[in-house]
Amino acid sequence: MKELLAQLCAAFGPSGREEGVREVIHAAVVPYCDKVEVDALGNLIAYKAASGKAIGEAPRLMLAAHMDQIGLIATHIDEKGYVRFAAIGGVSPRNALYRTVRFESGAQGVVGVEQLKLDYAKLEISKLFVDIGATDRAEAEKMVQVGDMAVFESPFMETPTQYVSGALDDRVCCAMMIEALKKVQNNAMELACVFTVQEEVGLRGAGPAAFALKPAAALALDVTLSGDTPEAAPQSTHLGGGPAIKVKDHSVICHPQIVEWMEKVAKEAGIPVQKEVLTAGGTDAGAIHLTQAGIRSGALSLSTRYVHSQAECVSKKDLEQSVALLAALMESSI
Ligand SMILES: [Zn+2]
Repeated sequence: MKELLAQLCAAFGPSGREEGVREVIHAAVVPYCDKVEVDALGNLIAYKAASGKAIGEAPRLMLAAHMDQIGLIATHIDEKGYVRFAAIGGVSPRNALYRTVRFESGAQGVVGVEQLKLDYAKLEISKLFVDIGATDRAEAEKMVQVGDMAVFESPFMETPTQYVSGALDDRVCCAMMIEALKKVQNNAMELACVFTVQEEVGLRGAGPAAFALKPAAALALDVTLSGDTPEAAPQSTHLGGGPAIKVKDHSVICHPQIVEWMEKVAKEAGIPVQKEVLTAGGTDAGAIHLTQAGIRSGALSLSTRYVHSQAECVSKKDLEQSVALLAALMESSI
């Protein structure tokens, strides 16, 4: 698990440029599923037929974890060789400041800020730039072109109880889904494990995937917030409290049958769970439940500290329990 997670976190994959992540996932899932395909948008779908049946013969359960991560895109290179950029996804200007970034070409740089009239409280992306060490525009353009994307660099590390990386959202759930798929012995429903694209820019990949799959039910797997650090905004979810069952976020009100099913399966498996209500933010379930004539959807969330920073932080125990719960859900029926 740790090696796979580290490999997934190291892969380059801002929204719309998920190829590197997809390669790692493809190699990891092939031995554990019956068919793998990549759709037009780049979603990777790993199918596991229902036990004793062929693909397409049983009702489908769709699971979705997004491959993409937040990042930036070069919008303009000035005459001194500084790269101006726009955010890909929810990038906080304060979290971006003085971080190192890596472009797909391999070029690296540091995020600097216009110093005159600097007001940290009103920091905007438009006041930031990437310093790639070029002395003028021509030199810079040999390394970075307008339209090139970059990700924020961050080390993968562990403390005795946690994994830490800037890419845990949502590579940790990609790893969770792969590990759960490995454990499944007997599944009455057909499983469609979808590793989605472009979640961070508006849940764009999951909807078309769900439209094609026509699942009987769907679960998104994603990180959520944690309310357990000093003076954190109050939150029902915290590290070490077990997998979180989403009830609502800004993109979806989870189907009550799905919430009940998740609670029942967790209880039968003896896995502690917490309920999640998120007042802002969304996940792939938000797009999935509105496709076709509506799809019963919910989400399994993993409590995470410092979301969208360079050091997102999850509990190893929560992750292990989430893998166990997800595997139990995959073997159950809804
Ligand atoms: Zn996410």
